[in-house]
Formats: sequence, structure tokens, C-alpha cells
Amino acid sequence: MNPNTKRMLMIMLVIVFGMMLFGSFFSKGEIIVPYDNAENSFLTLVKDGYVTEVEQEQSGKLLLKITEDGEKALDISSGTSVTSAVPGALTTDIRADITSVCAESGAKCQNEGQGPTISGLPPSDDGLIQMLISVGIPILVILGIFWYIMKKNQQQNNNAMNFGRSRARHTHGKSTVRFSDVAGVEEAKQELQEIVEFLKYPEKFNTLGAKMPRGALLVGPPGCGKTLIARAVAGEAGASFFSISGSEFVEMFVGVGAARVRDLFEQARKNSPAIVFVDEIDAVGRQRGSGLGGSHDEREQTLNQILVEMDGFEQSTNIIVLAATNRPDILDPALLRPGRFDRQVIVDKPDLKGRLAIFQVHARGKLISKEVDLEELARQCPGFSGADIAGVVNEAAILSARRNLKLIGMSEFLEAIERAVAGPERKSRIISEPEKLIIAYHESGHAIVQRILPKCDPVAKVTIISRGMTLGYTMALPTEDRYLRSQAEFEDQIAGLLGGNVAERMIFGDVTTGASNDIEKATEIARNMVMQYGMSESLGTRTFGKRDSMIFLGRDISEQRNYSEEVAKLIDEEIKKILDRGRERARETLTQYKDRLETLVQKLLVQETVYREEFEKIFADLPPKENSHGKPKLQNA
Ligand code: ADP
Ligand code: MG
Ligand code: ZN
Repeated sequence: MNPNTKRMLMIMLVIVFGMMLFGSFFSKGEIIVPYDNAENSFLTLVKDGYVTEVEQEQSGKLLLKITEDGEKALDISSGTSVTSAVPGALTTDIRADITSVCAESGAKCQNEGQGPTISGLPPSDDGLIQMLISVGIPILVILGIFWYIMKKNQQQNNNAMNFGRSRARHTHGKSTVRFSDVAGVEEAKQELQEIVEFLKYPEKFNTLGAKMPRGALLVGPPGCGKTLIARAVAGEAGASFFSISGSEFVEMFVGVGAARVRDLFEQARKNSPAIVFVDEIDAVGRQRGSGLGGSHDEREQTLNQILVEMDGFEQSTNIIVLAATNRPDILDPALLRPGRFDRQVIVDKPDLKGRLAIFQVHARGKLISKEVDLEELARQCPGFSGADIAGVVNEAAILSARRNLKLIGMSEFLEAIERAVAGPERKSRIISEPEKLIIAYHESGHAIVQRILPKCDPVAKVTIISRGMTLGYTMALPTEDRYLRSQAEFEDQIAGLLGGNVAERMIFGDVTTGASNDIEKATEIARNMVMQYGMSESLGTRTFGKRDSMIFLGRDISEQRNYSEEVAKLIDEEIKKILDRGRERARETLTQYKDRLETLVQKLLVQETVYREEFEKIFADLPPKENSHGKPKLQNA
């Protein structure tokens, strides 16, 4: 308990006692008589006819109006209030007691054996508690508010005073994360093992005169375990772990960032061996002089300070700086010089084996049914990051709990994966019959074109159940991550995207708004083909337009035009040609396979979802589609 709260408690106690004292002052002219079984008890007073009125006080006591004779009998001056404590259980039985007493002693009781008039309240609690509640609660509330305001003030003062202090979260003692908690990034673990060795046995390296790395840069997409593996390094080496995020450095006044860095390293030095983990280092470490807006000076100072600290490590300093980024391309080259973050450790998205291993890590300690095939699950979610998989396992556990299961089952896992890809199922959305028919034809159109065109990814599932923001969708399941894509692939993909729209027009002679997203995606692909990949015949192999990306957002914001009006027209024509070609191929395919389109639509209308095996049965006479790998993809209705 801090001294402040102690003082508050004292003040409260004093106030409460004060009130109690005050209360007893005013009850001076009061005498209390016992309830029964005694001389001058309440009941004898009633029996003797000395009581004219009984009133139950809020405190539960009985306040008695006494006749003059009664006052004489009790030997008190007139006006003194007379009360009788009431045994709790009897509170409601007072009337009965008085009646029976009066019946026994008839004559003496007033109103012909009726006894005193009784008025009062229903039975209530003990007086002290009553008082505490009626007095204490308001006091508590007021004190609470007072205390909160004081605390707030104090915090602000502290902030203003300590803004130069780093706010690094510091796990003192040992990090509990181990390498065994990180899966699917074996190479990264191997590289970092060296750092662990160094932190554990520095003498071994020092005696040989070996210089150990001062820092390593963890590079990889979000959610792949960069933070996790940094903690694991600290855990394995038994080192303290300090972490701070690059964006935290740049949030306050100029000069603060550098002061924070200094303080952070000071703390780390005191607690060495230590790992200093700088998350999102790109926020401070991007190329100097490239800032937008006025804050880049601040960033430069911060970055300089980090470099100074790292250069200033003595040979014996037992601190290693790990930094994480998903954009190594924009980092200042000075960060990557020897003696700084000269090692880059790639923490990439896991492959099939990696995903299985991550599933195994997160399945540890969970109640999972025997039927669950983790390998099949890993196969079902290509392109997922470690964080995605952690989310899937958790979601499956939540679903199982909601379904009151004792163990997490396979169907819960599959549902969780689907949720991760497409959002939760929305069975409640009411879709009219004619709309259902349109959606069925639309999705079947996508699915058939994708099945027939050779470069499209195999269809994993077609459904007309809405999920997330989509009405129905066709899920393609590429089974291999690809880094190079060919023109033929793009062309097939565009045809597949337009398949839904084409099917609608073929069957209903009309199209719906449901295809707008498909068309947008197809147009984007066509535009990139022409403008970036040089895949158009008439315009040749060159790029058009120079895209500026906004470093803060990691996103393209503007395009610099470096071509003429005429070329712009040509580009538009070329894009249109590609889209038309795709539409035509989709139409041809769907005309040729119209019977299967109808079959699939009927199936969808009956069972709403068609999975891969059943889908493939429709095409049993055709050669099977070869497998590929990649992230499951959605196509909107
Ligand atoms: P990053 O820092 O790369 O964005 P995190 O380390 O914060 O990713 O990962 C978030 C969470 O995802 C982790 O706490 C962990 O539960 C899970 N996770 C990510 N990668 C892995 C992995 N390779 N092995 C096990 N769990 C992982
Ligand atoms: Mg992270
Ligand atoms: Zn569609």
C-alpha cells in the first residue's frame, strides 16, 4: 500500500469515528429498557399500561411514548426518550407479543385490551451498518474522486519530468520464452544460436579475440515471430530483455528520442547480459534526409544516438541489440554497416513443415481430440503466418467451448481456418430465392472457369453461404508459394475473375452489382500487366508511370506520369483488350461446359456448399488438375 492510500484511509477512519461520537452526544437523554423478562422491561411497561404508543425507529429500536405514571415508575424526568432494543427475530412479532400481553393483563392495557398504538417501519438492518452505508458511501465516493485527481496530477508531473526516460518494458530476470516455443524458422534459430552462446559464455569468445556481433536485424512480414524469437534469445541465454518500439521514440518533443535511447542502454548496461529489442526500427531508422514533414530531425537524432551507443560498446559489454522490421529496403545504410546490424536474420512465413510445427507448438497444453490431423490443417492454410495459426488454434478452442465440447475437434479447426480466410459464416442473412439462384450461377461461373483454364488455382470450395462481407464465394487453393507469375497465369486469372459476371449474363441476360469487386480486381491485374510488367504486345516491354510510395504507410499514394496523352490512350485500350480477351475466354469455357455449370448450380442450391472432392467428381472425365501452392484466395460474389 502506498503512503497516499494509507493517509486517505486514516482520514476516513477519523471522519467515521467523529460522526459516531457526534451521534452519541445527541442521544444523551435516552434510556434503554430491555425487551422482556425483567423488571421495567418493555413488555412489563406495556402490561402495566404505561405505554401509549410504540414506534419502530429506523435503527430497529422501539421508541416508546410513556405515560406520566410510567415516567414515575421508571424514575425519569418527563421528555426523556425511552427505547427498547428489539431482538432481531422478534421484530415482526412485536404486535403479536403486545396483543398477548394485553390479553393476559386486560384491564390495565389501554383501549380495552388493545395495547399501545403501533407505528413504524418494516424490520431493518443493524444501526451501525445503516449509518456506515448512509454516511460512508458518499465519503468513499468523494475521497475516491479526490484521490483519482491527485494521482492524475502526479502522473502528469512525472511525465513532464521524466520524458527523457525510456519507457522500455523490461522483463527483469528470465524471459520464459524458449526456442522450442518458436517453430518453422529453423534457419533464424540457428543464426541466433550464436548470439545465445555469446551472451552465455562471453569469455570463450573474448579469449580468442573474436568480435561478436553487436546487433542483428530480424527481417520478415508481421506476425511471423520476430518479437517472439527475440524473447526466445533472451530466454535461452538467461539475459534480461528490454524492448521498445521505434514508433515510441518519435512521439514527443524533439530531443526526447535520443535521451530515451541513452537511458535505455544505460538500463541495459546495468542489467547485462541483456537483449535490447527495438521493434519497428524502420520508424526511426529509415534513410536520413528522406523525411516528410518536419519531424525527421528528431528521427535522425534518435537514430544517431542508437548508432553511437552501439559503437560505444566496449569489447566486454554483454549487450546485443536485436531490431525488427518488415521493410529492410528503406533502412538507412548506416544501420547495416559492419559492427552494427550487419547480420540480417530472415524470419519468414512458414512453409508446410513450418506450419505443422507451429500448429504443434500452439496445440501444446490444449485439449485436442485424437481425430484432429494437424498435418491436414497445415496443408489447409498455406500463406498463414505464425500469428494467423495461433489465432486459428485459439478460435477453434473458442468455437469448441461455445459448442460445449470436451475436446477441440477437426471441424472446429476447419471452421476456424475458414473464418480466418473469409470472416464468420452468416447463416442469418436472409437471401431471397431468386437472389440465391443468381449467386449460385455467379459462383459456379467462377468455379468452372477456374477448373478448366490450366493456369488457374484449383478450386477448394464453392459456397453460397455468406461469410464476412461476401455473399457466397469460391475458394481457390494454390498449394505452393510462388514468387514469379507468368502472363498466361494473369490471363487465366482474369478470365476466372470475370467468370461470375459472364455466367450471370449468359443465364439471365443481365448482370448484378455483386461482380463489382471481381471487375475491380481484374482491371487492376490488367493495368499492372500493361504498365509494370511490360506484358502488352503493342506497347512493348517497358514500364509506365513511376509510383511514389509513402514511407509511413508503406503504400503507393501517387503516380508520376512519364508518358504522353497518346500513350495514356493506348494504355487504356490495351487494358480493355486484355479484359475483353478474358471475358471472351470465360464465355467460351462456360458455353462449352454449360452442362456442368447447371450440375454445380443444382448442387449448390440443394446443399449450399460443395467441397473439392465433390466438385472434382463433376469433372471426372477430364484430366485432374495439377496441384500448386499458395495462400487460399477468395473470390467475392
Ligand atoms: P512479429 O513480431 O513478427 O510481428 P510476433 O512475434 O509478435 O510477430 O508474433 C505474434 C504471435 O504469433 C506470437 O506471440 C506467437 O503466438 C505467434 N507466432 C508467430 N510466429 C510464430 C512461430 N514461428 N512459432 C510459434 N508461434 C508464432
Ligand atoms: Mg512484433
Ligand atoms: Zn464473383
